[in-house]
Amino acid sequence: MTIRTEEELTGMRRVGALVARTLNLMSDAVRPGVTTAELDAIAEEHAVAAGARSAPRLTYDFPGFTCISVNDEIVHGIPGARVLADGDLVTLDVTLELDGFMADSARTVAVGAPPKGGTQLLRTAREALEAGLAAALPGRRVRDVGAAIDRSVRANGGWVFKELCGHGIGRKLHEEPSVPNWDDPDASMVLHEGLVLAVEPMLAGRVARIVEDDDGWTYRTHNGALAVHMEHTVVVRAGGVEVLTTV
Ligand code: MG
Repeated sequence: MTIRTEEELTGMRRVGALVARTLNLMSDAVRPGVTTAELDAIAEEHAVAAGARSAPRLTYDFPGFTCISVNDEIVHGIPGARVLADGDLVTLDVTLELDGFMADSARTVAVGAPPKGGTQLLRTAREALEAGLAAALPGRRVRDVGAAIDRSVRANGGWVFKELCGHGIGRKLHEEPSVPNWDDPDASMVLHEGLVLAVEPMLAGRVARIVEDDDGWTYRTHNGALAVHMEHTVVVRAGGVEVLTTV
């Protein structure tokens, strides 16, 4: 969406802050021994008490309240009985709807001590998101965001999944434009003031293909490569993006 009214700005800020608080609660609960279903329940309890609904459930009938993906799972992991262990990397992906507005944010965190290469991989993802957000300025093209992300990831020795993109968001979970994580010539739309985007580098430490699990939702790497994901919903502004999914 493009924010044009005070009501839209307020609505997007409210849902963005709720997503951030929900993610913080989940992150705080990550430890060896917790199940992904328990983390999902923490999110659901908090968000529902605030009047929100799960956007992926609402939009796609996703089986969880949030998406939780572990290690070689890239995105759309279904919360369940899996017990997190020391050295896992877990991606928490929360998209909420509150009073008709939607915001989306994800972060990968280490469970206990990070696995070998995990600290570097997490830093690569954080820097990629920062690079993408810094490129999201009015007058620049969507592809410039992807180019900045891909450049940053490569400089850190990582690999972005070209098939998985960020997106516009606001009244719906997935709106135009698609925001590729590479310099996609088709992403030629010019960014403008007030445009709301979910920018989300999804990457691995080495080359990997994406395979879909038999559960019909989970995307994982074909070779067991660890995958990480960092995402914020932001408003494009002349002076640099306003990050909505932070508190
Ligand atoms: Mg997203």
